[in-house]
Amino acid sequence: MIRTIASGSLFLIAIFAALAASRPPSAASWRLTSESEALVPDAALRAQIFRALDAAEGAGTDPSISHFKVRAATVVTVSNEDHVVLGGNTEYEVPEAIHGESSLLNHVTTLYGPDITRRAVRFVAFFSQRCGVSGSCGDCRDFQHAVTDYSHLLIVCGQASDHTVRVTRFADQLVDEDKFAAATPDSLSITPGELAQLTQSAAEARLGGVTLFTTARHTGAAGLSFSGKTYRAAGGDDAAFHYRFPIGGLLQQAATERDYFLRAIVVVGEKGQWPVINYRDRQYGYESSSFNHEAGKSPIALIITDGLGHYRATTFEAALPHAFSTANFMPQALKDFLQSHAAPAPK
Ligand SMILES: [Zn+2]
Repeated sequence: MIRTIASGSLFLIAIFAALAASRPPSAASWRLTSESEALVPDAALRAQIFRALDAAEGAGTDPSISHFKVRAATVVTVSNEDHVVLGGNTEYEVPEAIHGESSLLNHVTTLYGPDITRRAVRFVAFFSQRCGVSGSCGDCRDFQHAVTDYSHLLIVCGQASDHTVRVTRFADQLVDEDKFAAATPDSLSITPGELAQLTQSAAEARLGGVTLFTTARHTGAAGLSFSGKTYRAAGGDDAAFHYRFPIGGLLQQAATERDYFLRAIVVVGEKGQWPVINYRDRQYGYESSSFNHEAGKSPIALIITDGLGHYRATTFEAALPHAFSTANFMPQALKDFLQSHAAPAPK
């Protein structure tokens, strides 16, 4: 009997060995790319990263529209004990989603509180079939910026096929407004007259909007299309905390008129202060500027002013580094869409 069990055990071990040989590389085989090694000199942190990647593989997701799984994890040390926390994306109805990294950080806060999220989350790790160069969407950048020690946060991508691990700094996805280049009215891609008109239009827009919660950061934006029309919007908040952003607002108005190509957008805040351009709003601008790119037009100029005659200018491409848009995911669909939605001829 004993002998039979022993033989049986050996047989099982042989089966496990055969299974292991046919599986992808085991957990122990995660390895940092050479460029990533310098960012993670600490062996204990490396071990946490590899542990998180193993766990992220099993994170539940429900991407019913895109079928693109975002499986995220981190390890936080609380009272000298390591805890793995998971996050995954869920999509619903119109293209809306709870995103993987926001889900993850919200789970950390749910389990351990906001102080731990800020102090103990050192990295966000993604388990991915293929690691590209794209960073988070604009909204997830805003969220990570707000709730983590973002200047030290690391972003990790573990590639399923070969278990290579790429590490970058989250800060590489951020460009503060004071990094936008100083500009003068005659140095821009629009004329000084157009700039003055857009600045005034944005300032007037800012008198409106809805500011029941937004006090310090209310902004107005105005955009000029290649067809010569101006669209404008102000920020609007509501009880559900589904803030409507000014750049997104004016772009939606332009799109409604099938006026898909914008030349420049000017944003104003309180007089004497530079406006903050949320990353979510930059994402809307980036998407729209990718339409320009598709049509062979120059990128949208993003111009901010302090309302005292000073300007800074950039592009959404520069203000949202490592971004993605439908132009990346579905280039042919975007091409077909723009061709089939040409603006009606002026009356
Ligand atoms: Zn996101």
